[in-house]
Amino acid sequence: MTGKEKKALALALVTPLLLIVPNILLNITDGYYMTAGEKILNIAGPLAVYYFITMGWKKTGGAVLCLIPVMVLAAFQIVLLDLYGESIIAVDMFLNVVTTDADEAGTLLANLLGAIGVVVALYLPPIVFGIVALVKGWKLPSAASRSTKSVIACILLTIVAEGIKHRWLENIFPVNVTRNMITAVERTVQSKNYLKTSAGFSHNAELTTKEATDSLPTTLVLVIGETGRSCRWQLGGYERETNPRLSRRAGVTYFGKAITESNTTHKSVPMLMSAVVPETFDSVMYYRSVIEAFNNAGYHTAYFSNQPPNGSYNQRFGEEADVTVFMQDVEGSTGLDRDLLGQVKNYLDTTKMAQRRLIVLHTYGNHFRYNERYPADEARFKPDSPMDAVKSNREALWNAYDNATLQVDLLLDSLATLTTTQGGKSAIVYAADHGEDMYDDERERFLHASPVPTYYQLHVPMVVWMSEGMEETYPEMVSALKENAEKRVSPSESLYPTLLQLGGLSTRYLNREQAVTDPSFQSPRPIYLTDRNVTVALEDSGVKKADLDSLRARKIID
Ligand SMILES: [Zn+2]
Repeated sequence: MTGKEKKALALALVTPLLLIVPNILLNITDGYYMTAGEKILNIAGPLAVYYFITMGWKKTGGAVLCLIPVMVLAAFQIVLLDLYGESIIAVDMFLNVVTTDADEAGTLLANLLGAIGVVVALYLPPIVFGIVALVKGWKLPSAASRSTKSVIACILLTIVAEGIKHRWLENIFPVNVTRNMITAVERTVQSKNYLKTSAGFSHNAELTTKEATDSLPTTLVLVIGETGRSCRWQLGGYERETNPRLSRRAGVTYFGKAITESNTTHKSVPMLMSAVVPETFDSVMYYRSVIEAFNNAGYHTAYFSNQPPNGSYNQRFGEEADVTVFMQDVEGSTGLDRDLLGQVKNYLDTTKMAQRRLIVLHTYGNHFRYNERYPADEARFKPDSPMDAVKSNREALWNAYDNATLQVDLLLDSLATLTTTQGGKSAIVYAADHGEDMYDDERERFLHASPVPTYYQLHVPMVVWMSEGMEETYPEMVSALKENAEKRVSPSESLYPTLLQLGGLSTRYLNREQAVTDPSFQSPRPIYLTDRNVTVALEDSGVKKADLDSLRARKIID
């Protein structure tokens, strides 16, 4: 063997071993739902394919460079395993990359430098040597290449036959991840075609006789929260004063047993804003949002978003309003949610003639990085830096998170004041889209949107506030709220019908049993919308016993 042949052989032998690293890690982290056969296949199958490519191709450099897409997926997979501790790259992960703005993605990546360093150390060398091999013309010895190729082809055929027989192929990395990537592309195309697919939809909503004949003008505000944790709300029993204003305000009902049915923004928000529930989520492109219902009934509508437009259903729904503003387009915007108050005030001032108005706000709430959600000089809990995502910063992260919650408190309370000064009757409905992990336990998990949810991502804050005028007009809703406040609620199902009821709207899409303002309200069964848009019982979602125990301890589930 010549020197070049030896180098080519070394490169051809080592590269597949590096590529199999995520498979080994997944066998360990996700092994609990894999059979022994699946685990063996998850290693042997891809390894055989990789060797078939590197050993079967005389020009090793070309073969190795051909595997770059697999290296990219493997790198992404290893970084996510470091972040979440389990699970293949989900459909939602790919969608999050598309729907998250570059700044935010950058922030996140900056906090994953350790994992990224490992990935670079693993996959940069084969790429560099692959290029060198190509340039210098390293080639495998012909005999080695030919004989290995036929041996591996035999192994491969056996594996594929076994895999098909047992339906294992779709559980092999990167087959599973590639399938998720294709689904993500399909869903992105669907949301791009939203205007066409939803064109035939109408709520055909009308005002109820009571609302239509009521002389008091109506102002409703729907506030979509971001990354809210009920266990961090003073109203939810948290020992810190994170809701000093709302705690003192009359007319506030807090729902302490609210759980979300999705831990991602791009799925949860469309459910909060429309009649879509997990069971119908795959048809979201045929629906219009609650804003369309209010338009039908003669309301003047506005949508103000502190989150950037990203082509998702959140944006499409918001664009159904008479007035739509994305704060990133507003000159002098600071990025803080409190900027929305200026928009609301301005809107209320310029639409005084309207008898009925609906305002929908999409906030940044408690989204990471938490210390960017409030002015530095208003930090009440300190220290609130450094903000890098490492467990040793937990105290600062928690403090900053609580400071951000104080801003949510300020926003909701100020909205109540603003709408009250308008006279007439008004109400605010608020819920967060999902919660967040913050190095809460020995699992050391951080952020949200993981393929399997945790207690901290599920348990969210939810609030309904009614003005005196509203309470006097609809006393039956006041008593229903009081009665339902202690029950398990899912904002994904309840926000939409509750808002319709407060607005005095009737439509065939109104499900009274999910409106917390209705005496017939029934707690929904605990369910979860999976990454592949399948609705499962919460306990079948992969959620761990510790998380179910946390929900049970708070009497949220039985
Ligand atoms: Zn979110």
